[in-house]
Amino acid sequence: MNTTQVLVVGGGPTGLWLACELRRCGVDAIVLDRRSAGVGESRAGGLHARSLEILRSRGVDGPFLAEGRRVPAAHFAGLWLDMSRLSTEFPYVLGLVQSRIEALLAEHLRELGPDVRWNTEVTGVSQTADHAEVTTADGERLRADYVVAGDGGRSTVRRLLGIAFEGTDATVSSMLADVVLADPPAGPIFQQRTPLGDFSVLQLQPGCHRLMTNHYEPATDRGAPLDLGEFREAFVAMAGTDFGLHSPQWTSRYHDAARLAARYRDGRVLLAGDAAHIHWPAGGQGLNTGLQDATDLGWKLALTLRGHSTTLLDTYEAERRPVAERVLANTRAQTALCRPGPHVDALRATTADLLTIPAVNDRLAAMVAGLDQGERAPDVPLTDGRGALVGAGDVPDGWADRVDALPGERALLVRPDGYVAWSGGPGRTDALATWFGQPAPSRSALSRA
Ligand SMILES: Cc1cc2nc3c(=O)[nH]c(=O)nc-3n(C[C@H](O)[C@H](O)[C@H](O)COP(=O)(O)OP(=O)(O)OC[C@H]3O[C@@H](n4cnc5c(N)ncnc54)[C@H](O)[C@@H]3O)c2cc1C
Repeated sequence: MNTTQVLVVGGGPTGLWLACELRRCGVDAIVLDRRSAGVGESRAGGLHARSLEILRSRGVDGPFLAEGRRVPAAHFAGLWLDMSRLSTEFPYVLGLVQSRIEALLAEHLRELGPDVRWNTEVTGVSQTADHAEVTTADGERLRADYVVAGDGGRSTVRRLLGIAFEGTDATVSSMLADVVLADPPAGPIFQQRTPLGDFSVLQLQPGCHRLMTNHYEPATDRGAPLDLGEFREAFVAMAGTDFGLHSPQWTSRYHDAARLAARYRDGRVLLAGDAAHIHWPAGGQGLNTGLQDATDLGWKLALTLRGHSTTLLDTYEAERRPVAERVLANTRAQTALCRPGPHVDALRATTADLLTIPAVNDRLAAMVAGLDQGERAPDVPLTDGRGALVGAGDVPDGWADRVDALPGERALLVRPDGYVAWSGGPGRTDALATWFGQPAPSRSALSRA
């Protein structure tokens, strides 16, 4: 039987990045995906600041920045957010379609080890006290210390484990088409509210626009394929024009059902990304939240596998589930702020007015960008999978195998994901034990034994 340390089910953005993080920490990881290589949908339109900070901290941001378009604005329910004042090296949204993000992540994964095993569908999962196992549609069994479900919103693994996926049902039916426009509207984004719902036109890249419609009623035909004719008809009914659309690259229906996994962990199986949370794509937060789940989980799995801690893995759900809960809440708020009608028109006008206050704009901008989830230390250079004790002298005996001592003016303990775990004063030893596990026995203790 094929055995490894971590089996990652799903080679979407979450699974790909998790496998990169694990391999950088020296963990063997195999990624399985039922898709064929290179078959991806354009879906997400970009990367937010926190994701870019993470990529930079791993030294892999270059190819993403080289391909993406820097847009110093995001939106909340279609109301503009100025991102330019964000306290980060990346005060913008990097426009880059999901298929390209995935291609760049897959390329990076290949630099670190074997490629994704494509055309491999997981159909079964089981576990014992000391290992977990998956079965594929071809009947192959693979064993690992841990399995991570990065298999998307309809996660097979989540379903097989019987983990509830509760939340709110769809109230909006949305459609999109990525097309070429013969006669595009001016500017990078064009939005309008109508009595039927709203529509928008977003330039994804030169020569490619994304057209979207939102109807504020649940769809009855959610699973049905969407052809360009049906999309055009719905779009023209709202916009009065189709802007000369042709050559569709991708068409899709989507909705605003917002659901969260009741648990992120069942023994040796963990959920990450859309397998753990789904919501309306308003504000472009889904892929980014998945990348950040993976960043939180990777180093924790690595330290656990090295036997340093038996409790660290529990902090994954404790930290990441509340983040997803907030994302679901803000996307529900955005749905409410988008509905048609004079009452919502008034609410939007009030919200738009409040957003002219810089502190209000900046708070929402930081939330959408993922910059409000703890104190970050982006300038501290981290070595893969290791923490850093900055400006606080030597690393105490027993943690030097996991934590580096670095010079600096401010005393800090920085986790491998760049978050600050301690910032001077009492509690340093507790923070080391919480985030890096038990100290290794000192050499003198070992030689005495
Ligand atoms: C229209 C639209 C626009 C969006 N825009 C944005 C945006 O601007 N910004 C943003 O951050 N997010 C956006 N999102 C959300 C984003 O697409 C998702 O959050 C993201 O794809 C989640 O990544 P993931 O890796 O967790 O899951 P997925 O991307 O769904 O990947 C899951 C992978 O698992 C594989 N898989 C599934 N089942 C199995 C199985 N049984 N065995 C093996 N493999 C399996 C699938 O083939 C797939 O490759 C958008 C979504 C939509 C629909």
